[in-house]
Amino acid sequence: MNLEGYEMVLIGIGEEFEESHDALSAYNKLAEDLTGKNYFIVSLCMDDVIYNSNLNHDRIVTPLGGKRKKQCPDACENALYEVTEENCPICGKKLIYNNILAENYIEQGYLPMWEKHKLWLTGTLNKSLYICELGVSMKLPQVIRWPFERIAMLNNKAFFLRVNEKLPQIAAELKEKGMSVKENSVKWLIEN
Ligand SMILES: [Zn+2]
Repeated sequence: MNLEGYEMVLIGIGEEFEESHDALSAYNKLAEDLTGKNYFIVSLCMDDVIYNSNLNHDRIVTPLGGKRKKQCPDACENALYEVTEENCPICGKKLIYNNILAENYIEQGYLPMWEKHKLWLTGTLNKSLYICELGVSMKLPQVIRWPFERIAMLNNKAFFLRVNEKLPQIAAELKEKGMSVKENSVKWLIEN
């Protein structure tokens, strides 16, 4: 990925990375590409593979959660627990992973990073911003696909790239400053 000339880089990652066995290599390639760049990554993946990569954890937000923390199915006191814990100390129920599949998903698991991401975004206005969306489906478009397009439209110095094997189309308004690649994003990232 050629990021030359861009001060800031916003990356969105989706399901294609959860379906691939080469995801870790792709993340590490991305970490190389992002060396020295001011970046932030929003990922819909719940497999936590990204946290095993060389990418900076302080610049990643995974709003759907994963398996890094546990919670009570009843969300007792909105508490989060280490994965080594077995039962809720308040009601005694068996703890489950803190992700969107949980009954009563405790969003506090990702909200601090989400706030950091929002603050980072306000700093992208009037900056040359490279927006790259990799393998994101239409399952939860309000998290990455729609807001990323909106950010691209609002920023005159933005470039928008969408890489997706099945859904590469970009909004007509972005034709001037955007590009789409109809390829598997994991494969594309490793090769480009
Ligand atoms: Zn409980």
